[in-house]
Amino acid sequence: MPLHVDTPLVESHPLSLASGRRIVLKLDALQPSGSFKLRGIGHACEVHHARGARGFVTSSGGNAGLAVAYAGRRLGVPVTVFVPESSTSTARALLAREQAKVIVHGASWQEANELALSRVGGTDAFIHPFDDPLLWHGHASMIDEVVASGLVFDAVVVSVGGGGLMCGVAEGLRRHGLDHVPIVAVETTGAASLRAAIDAGALVTLDAITSVATSLGARRVAARALQWTQERPVQSVVVSDAEALEACERFLADHRMLVEPACGASLALAYGPHQALAAFDRVLVIACGGATATIDQIRHWARPEAAADL
Ligand SMILES: *Cc1c(COP(=O)(O)O)cnc(C)c1O
Repeated sequence: MPLHVDTPLVESHPLSLASGRRIVLKLDALQPSGSFKLRGIGHACEVHHARGARGFVTSSGGNAGLAVAYAGRRLGVPVTVFVPESSTSTARALLAREQAKVIVHGASWQEANELALSRVGGTDAFIHPFDDPLLWHGHASMIDEVVASGLVFDAVVVSVGGGGLMCGVAEGLRRHGLDHVPIVAVETTGAASLRAAIDAGALVTLDAITSVATSLGARRVAARALQWTQERPVQSVVVSDAEALEACERFLADHRMLVEPACGASLALAYGPHQALAAFDRVLVIACGGATATIDQIRHWARPEAAADL
């Protein structure tokens, strides 16, 4: 039994109306850890567990950390998560609730990650948040489920941080002979490391992440993600934080489900509606989820001037 669950595939009437085309949602927000990450990370943790790993170490205070913590708890493997001082108390509390040992170190993720790497013991497995073929293999299962349902679609919308989700979706599409189906790869302004790499034709490291969609905040994408853009149709789209946040609020009203701005970025294409969907009739949108943002935080990001109301 895998650690992730098969998720519902739901045709969204509100998003279809808003976008003027058929929008079908793969609701990976409903994974027990709160995001799609459990697919790939659950798979990686099971493989390492089977190979004899006695501990899991990671450096993500976000949904990857939560997925590792969940997988470790389920497998009975102790988990240590190194997070920077800048991580939120919400994230730390969620990790602690999953019984992970949380070590706070350094001003930024770089320092937390360095300490994490130095503390990986001989019987531990280090779990990377996006750049690992084991993860992509696990993420690809979402496309297996969509194809098994019989759904026909002519584009897939995914959010891109480090590109692990995109690599998984591309792998899943390839497995089913769907290399011709375009992937619409969505980032937010201030976290657009895939767009920068596509423009440069090479991997680019952004100086800083300035978007509120912190789960998209990889300063550099996985090399495999850029490679996919050279092997198959991938359309890069960058939306604003404001668009992503508005999509989160509308999605909560329409589907009664709270997702992070990282997921709102993808939903924003339907709500826009965005020109990037103009050529497509039936669009599969991966509702990737995210557990680390509260509705108060989303409203505050959307309307900081109204902060006094909180
Ligand atoms: C991690 C994450 C992403 C981005 O995934 P990558 O594999 O880093 O591209 C998007 N949305 C949510 C909610 C995430 O947790």
